[in-house]
Formats: sequence, C-alpha cells, structure tokens
Amino acid sequence: MTRAEELQKIQEYQDSICECLLKESATRPVFGNGNPDAKIVFIGEAPGKKEDETGKPFVGAAGKFLAEMLASIGMERKDIYITNIVKYRPPNNRDPEDPEKKECAPWLHAELEFIKPDVIIFLGRHSMTHFLPELKISEAHGKLVHRKIPNFPTEYFFPLYHPAAALYNGGMRETLMSDFKKIPIVLKKIEETKNQAKK
Ligand code: URA
Repeated sequence: MTRAEELQKIQEYQDSICECLLKESATRPVFGNGNPDAKIVFIGEAPGKKEDETGKPFVGAAGKFLAEMLASIGMERKDIYITNIVKYRPPNNRDPEDPEKKECAPWLHAELEFIKPDVIIFLGRHSMTHFLPELKISEAHGKLVHRKIPNFPTEYFFPLYHPAAALYNGGMRETLMSDFKKIPIVLKKIEETKNQAKK
C-alpha cells in the first residue's frame, strides 16, 4: 500500500467512527488532501459549499487565492497537505461549534500523526485556537511559534489569517500575502534547527 492509500484508509475509518452532528446536513465528508510526505500541513476551518459538492478541501474562492499565494513562493498544492478542523460543511457556512470541533479532532490528529509535518500553518483563528487557545490571530499572524506539546508530532506552528476572510478585505489581504512570503524563511529556519540538533 502506498502512503497515500494508507492515509485514505485512515480517513475512511475516521469518517466511519466520527459522530459529528454536521454529518446529517453535509452532502459528504471532505477529506484532507495533498502530499502525505509534506513538510507543511495547512489547517483551515470547515468545508464550504464547493468543498461539500466536490469532497475536496479549498477548491472554492479561498482555495484559488491560496493556490495563487503558493505559486508566489514557488509551491503547488502537490507540495503541501491541506485539511480542516471540521470535516463536514456547517449549514449556511456558519462557524463550526466546539462540540463539532471536538468530534472531528481525533480525525485531524490521526492525519497529523501520520504525516508528522515540520510545521503546521493555521489558516484563521479556528484552527489556531484549537491548538494554541491563548493566542489572538490579530497578534499571532505571521509569527513562528515553537511549542512542545506532549505526544504531538509537530513543534512549530505558523498562524495566518484565513484566505476567505482576507479575500475581500484589502488590508488583511496585503498582510496575509506578506506573511505568506515568510513561509520559505520559516521552513529554512526549522530545517537548520533540526540539522543542528542532529550534530
Ligand atoms: N475554508 C476552509 O476553511 N476550508 C475549506 O475547505 C474551504 C474554505
């Protein structure tokens, strides 16, 4: 079995046991998608209409903007892995609620445990506060956080504004685009730190 097939099986299993109430109203689950060997995992909030229709994360307007930002740093979707805190579309795209996030958390953690990325990039406050509840997105965006969490595979976190929020807000859009450009520097820094630790 390839790593991609293994990850698919893990997600099918998580879907089968997930008791999130959003399952009743959503058309289908939206599995995390991308490179199972990626160094970067992006975590968004919840699927929207397009994602619910296709079963793929970030395929609507926010996804298009994200693809443009990836291209600006010489990357493509196939270089990264992308997923959401909540795997089923909330009705009318309302914010996901705490019990929904809680029900979907084992699924997200299974994906992260499998991929073991060097850095997790939060897209918006919902995914950031799931892991780092004390932070405020308006202050934390664009700053690398180093945090050892017991029994968790990743130590580095990089919060960003959500592309859907930034899409139609000029100031936030500029900030997101300039924060995004820091990603290669962040990756290099983590790589250097890892290499030093090996010496
Ligand atoms: N916004 C998200 O947070 N996730 C998606 O999959 C699409 C839009």
